[in-house]
Order: sequence, then structure tokens, then C-alpha cells
Amino acid sequence: MTSIPDIRLNNGQAIPQFGFGVFQIEPKDTAAAVSTALEAGYRHIDTAEMYGNEAEVGEAIARSGLDRGEVFVTSKLSNDAHEPDDARQAFEGTLKALGTEYLDLFLIHWPLPTRYGGDYVQTWRTLEEFYREGRARSIGVSNFQPHHLRRLHGETEIIPAVNQIEMHPYLTQDEVRAFCGEHQIAVEGWSPLGKGGVLADPTIQSIATRAGKTPAQVVLRWHIQRGNIVFPKSVTPDRIRENIDIFDFELPATDVEDITLLNKNERTGPDPDKFAGQ
Ligand code: NAD
Repeated sequence: MTSIPDIRLNNGQAIPQFGFGVFQIEPKDTAAAVSTALEAGYRHIDTAEMYGNEAEVGEAIARSGLDRGEVFVTSKLSNDAHEPDDARQAFEGTLKALGTEYLDLFLIHWPLPTRYGGDYVQTWRTLEEFYREGRARSIGVSNFQPHHLRRLHGETEIIPAVNQIEMHPYLTQDEVRAFCGEHQIAVEGWSPLGKGGVLADPTIQSIATRAGKTPAQVVLRWHIQRGNIVFPKSVTPDRIRENIDIFDFELPATDVEDITLLNKNERTGPDPDKFAGQ
């Protein structure tokens, strides 16, 4: 297997461009899934307080025998903990659950413009504390629209290292990607397979047949060639191994373009401008 490329974040830190997501993996199944992923070569795990499985992610990393520095770990602030004191407590809880002294990346999970008086700026300032203390090596946001990012830009000191947004062939997010590109914010794509919903698409199926790869591999490769950071989720060992096996081929530019043209601006998840976090 060819090695996974790193992306250089705006603070100089390296993040593996490809990783493993654990949303909706039951706590009882999480350690086994993460162990399978680490054995298959994944070195980047994406979890969140709200997934309820941080402790099991930490357990699998501890059991793997890998040094802490070899695995890039991301977690996210609970939607119920945006007030500064709550955020400090939640961050402590995340470190404790994961059994680590620092996170590689900590994100505001959702902007929640209709809660907390719409003040995600004070929440961001609290994340800036974690960064300055070195307990979060990088900090970023998730589900932020360009107008949310513009406000952070105007009112705070540290530019988010990443913005993690829903992104797949039916939601290519060209506007958010362009804004982030101009401001040195790396873009992570959640639900990179559209939760599996894009895999039956005839264009993707025909490219997969031609490439001798599976539809999931073609979609993940499309993300990699577009420069997105992705971490597909699966609990099935064969799929966990299949999804990382995308570094020995390249899609022609025309295929990348044809997949990009499938965009329908179709979300599987909530609208960040409306979502209140429950
Ligand atoms: P995904 O696009 O990774 O899809 C996962 C689903 O696709 C699986 O449940 C399975 O049904 C299917 N699948 C996976 N591999 C396959 C394969 N090889 N062949 C066929 N089907 C396959 O969706 P996701 O889990 O929602 O997103 C990935 C990660 O993104 C999450 O685990 C989480 O870490 C992150 N995420 C973040 C947010 C956020 O708000 N920040 C929201 C959702 C997800």
C-alpha cells in the first residue's frame, strides 16, 4: 500500500488526508472497528463527544501498541457545552475519555446560530485557550458557512485550521471550498460516501468498472484528488480495508470532473444555518 499523504495545516501541523470516522458506531463495536482500522494502516481517527464512543476509541489506540504521536486524533465539542465554562469541562472530559493529554484537532461541532445568542465567537475564544495551552495541537470548526467564518476572522485571533463539512458527489460544496482555500483553512468532508447513498449512481458505477475498483474506492479517490480530507465509516472489516486501498491508482481528470458534475446540492444532514443541535 502506498502511504497516505499528509496535508499541511495553516499552523504547520501535518494531518493524514485519509482517516476513519466513528459516527453511529455503537460503543460496544467501536474498539473492534478502530483496531481493525489501525491494523489496516489508518492513522487518523475522527470522533466526537456526541458520538458517545471516545473511551472506546482511546481503548483501541492504547491497545494497538502504537505511540500516541503516530495517530492523529480529532474530537468535537458537544452542542450542549458552548458556554466557556461548559466547554472547558467538556474538553477535560474528552481528554479523559480518550486517555490522552492532548488532541491533535478539536472542533466546534456546529455553529448553532440560533442558540447561545448566536455567539460562537466566545466558544471559539475558549478553543483558542486549549490551543495556547498546547492541549489541542490544532483547533477548527465544523459545519461553518463562509459567513460564520468571516465573523470569526473579524473578531478573533486564530484562523481555524480546518472546516469539517458534509461533502460528497451530490454535495460538492464548491463555494465553501473556495472560501476556505482563499483563507488557508483545510476542508474535511464528512459523510464522504453520502452515507452510502451515492454508490449506486450510474456514473460512479461505470467509472468503477473501468478503473477495476469499487464505487466506494472511486468516490474516496475523487475526494483525495480534489484535496479533501476524508474519514469514511464502516464496521465491516472488509469494507474498512477496501476504503483505505485507494492509493495505488489515479482517476483521469475527466472522471474527477464527471463526478463533480453530479452535484445536486443535496444534504443528508441538517442545514448549518438552521440546526439547533438536537
Ligand atoms: P459515510 O459517507 O462515511 O458513509 C458510511 C456508510 O457508508 C456506512 O455506514 C456503510 O453503510 C457505507 N459504506 C462504507 N464503506 C462502504 C463500502 N466500502 N462499500 C459500501 N458501502 C460502504 O458517512 P458518515 O459515517 O456519516 O461520515 C463519516 C464520518 O464523518 C463519521 O463517521 C464522522 O466521523 C464524520 N461526521 C461528522 C459530522 C459532523 O457534523 N461534523 C456529521 C456526520 C459524520
